Amino acid sequence: MSRFLVSLSLLAHLFLLPSTAYSDPLISRVTPPSKPYHQGQSEPVTARFLTDQRFDLQTTVQPDKGTTITRVQFIIDGKELVSISSEGPHPNNTSFVTSGLVDGLRPNSVVASYRAYSQKKEGIHKLIIKAEQSDGKVTADEWHVFEIVNLQHSSAKAKNVIIFLGDGMGATHRTAARIVAQGYEQGKANGRLAMDTFPITGLVMTASLNSIVTDSSPGMSNYVTGNKANNNEEGVFPDDTKDAFDNPRVEYLSEYLHRIKGTSLGLVTTADVFDATPAANAVHTSDRGKGSGIVDQYLDDQKLTGLRVLMGGGRKWFLPNASGKIEKSQPVMNGSQRTASSDYVLPDDLVAGWGAAKGAKDPERNLIEDFRSTGWKYAPTNTVMRNLIAENKPPHQLLGLFSFSNMNVAFDKINGRRCASEASASAFANGCNAGAGKGPFGDGTETILSGASPAGSVVHDFGFPDQPMLDEMTDVALKVLDQDNEKGFVLMVEGASIDKQSHLMDTDRWILEVLEFDRAVAVGQRYAQVHPDTLVIVTADHECSGASLIGSLKVNRDTVTKNLASDPGKATVLRDKQVGVYEGASFPRYRILADGYPADTDIQGKVLIGYGANADRYETWLSNPRPTSDSQQPFIGVEPLSTYPAHPAARNAENGLFIAGQVPGDNAVHTGTDVPLGAMGRGASLFSGFFDNTDVFFKIGQAMLGGVRE
Ligand SMILES: [Zn+2]
Repeated sequence: MSRFLVSLSLLAHLFLLPSTAYSDPLISRVTPPSKPYHQGQSEPVTARFLTDQRFDLQTTVQPDKGTTITRVQFIIDGKELVSISSEGPHPNNTSFVTSGLVDGLRPNSVVASYRAYSQKKEGIHKLIIKAEQSDGKVTADEWHVFEIVNLQHSSAKAKNVIIFLGDGMGATHRTAARIVAQGYEQGKANGRLAMDTFPITGLVMTASLNSIVTDSSPGMSNYVTGNKANNNEEGVFPDDTKDAFDNPRVEYLSEYLHRIKGTSLGLVTTADVFDATPAANAVHTSDRGKGSGIVDQYLDDQKLTGLRVLMGGGRKWFLPNASGKIEKSQPVMNGSQRTASSDYVLPDDLVAGWGAAKGAKDPERNLIEDFRSTGWKYAPTNTVMRNLIAENKPPHQLLGLFSFSNMNVAFDKINGRRCASEASASAFANGCNAGAGKGPFGDGTETILSGASPAGSVVHDFGFPDQPMLDEMTDVALKVLDQDNEKGFVLMVEGASIDKQSHLMDTDRWILEVLEFDRAVAVGQRYAQVHPDTLVIVTADHECSGASLIGSLKVNRDTVTKNLASDPGKATVLRDKQVGVYEGASFPRYRILADGYPADTDIQGKVLIGYGANADRYETWLSNPRPTSDSQQPFIGVEPLSTYPAHPAARNAENGLFIAGQVPGDNAVHTGTDVPLGAMGRGASLFSGFFDNTDVFFKIGQAMLGGVRE
């Protein structure tokens, strides 16, 4: 009852006052965001920070008609922090911005900021905003609080943290991979995945600031800032300006630990390195799509993050774009997709407050050369990466860019390796002939088609036959970070295409992605076993596709192929005669080769998956010889990539079983389902139970700064 009344009064404050009493200045946004503490939630909803962690204070103020805002005051715990006047001058880490604001605000609205605030005193702090307009009217918003979280102090501190992030990896993804990798006998698993053996297990709520269903930007950002971000935004709070790089920032775990104790940062992914998950550890933006600016900041702000390892795909953002234009349907000179519109220039107050680089719109920048000129070593292929690490001493800083955009997935990388060796008989789905055997590139840049075998595997079509597996990258990253490691490191390793292939509902491809990811987890686990001051976490940012393990295939590949040909699209055959449920599913029995992956993904008894968050698709239950098109790749408009299935509903449409989606668009979507988390090493015990994704940040902080009892 009382909560209902309180909610009504909140509504009145938000909506009625401005229209009925349209005369005082309206304070329409206060950052960091918090729920009014007198609103009566069972848990206070406040922004939380670690002691001395930096974040921006910001407010949007809208004046009455015919007036302007003349002054904005930030008051903390009753004491004025700063008073910013329209006349200026004001401290160089503050701003009073009236242009470039979003549509829908009253004329002469203002966004006022105080950059890089921090607070050492633990506990709840009260933030008051006071605004004055040109007719002398004043509004004060006294509802906002933030908390500096209290750490317990013990002697045993974690020095390093490794976060394994299986993008989109829910419980089903893990179960399916375990069944494929280990098999079951008499109802018991014959073995476990590496991630199954972590001694501590938790369950994580994954919501973002503005939705129960997050995307990967807040999904990662929430773990490493301790604060909720909006979808598509990373390392920032939402604001009312159009600029994607000027949002109020919150300091990342990497930046915070680097500033207070000198830690290093490593980012390893199978995605394009500009992608949301890696970027949400080091780059602050409200638009995860701003590739040029994101990759530029990895280098430009390495002194803020301590970045020493950056590996994955995404070379298209690092190559100079002399013309500044993008062409997807023509083989351009080098595959660059740098543009001025996706690049960054920071406002002066942000530069002054954070010590960040100013930035420049420079599509012509040769970012690989710029990395090299500041001492980084560069690996364009797996072979070069191995050679760099085989030298006496691993490089101090290592950049690895193994493809133009997202790397090829394990299914296709393993196929490429098997096709190039005597294991070619075990290529999945006739994979050695799946591709045309030649990428759409003819200009002989560094790695394209160099040493390409005549085999027509998919990796040759993409032009990158020599890509490392995630476990190989993880091993190298740890060798680089482990040297000169007095101060510790933060390493984030992402299995990115667990998510991407789940969106595409390409079951066998995402199952192999989980297997690849788990092999990387095993590498981190071995490191922590010999470095007991290391904390290792394995989790996901969210679940993707509503994947569900429905049973197994009752017939063999030849029968499926015959059924697809003789009775295309018929549920009475393709579903009713083939899908084994309950005891009809029995126990799938895959044969695993020395490379760690199944000899054949299309066995009788193969694991079958249904999708609860699916778009329209056609199901054959067999592996797809070729992956579904990836719109991020620069040459998808050119043969042979242009001949790959454009989206899931364009795949197997001629014979597969049509399954109507219940979500709009042509991809399966993320779900709001909780995700499992495993922890091992120092501080692992903090991760037992059920918690919010932002809690993970404070648990890591407790392990690394507060310490735990051993
Ligand atoms: Zn996703």
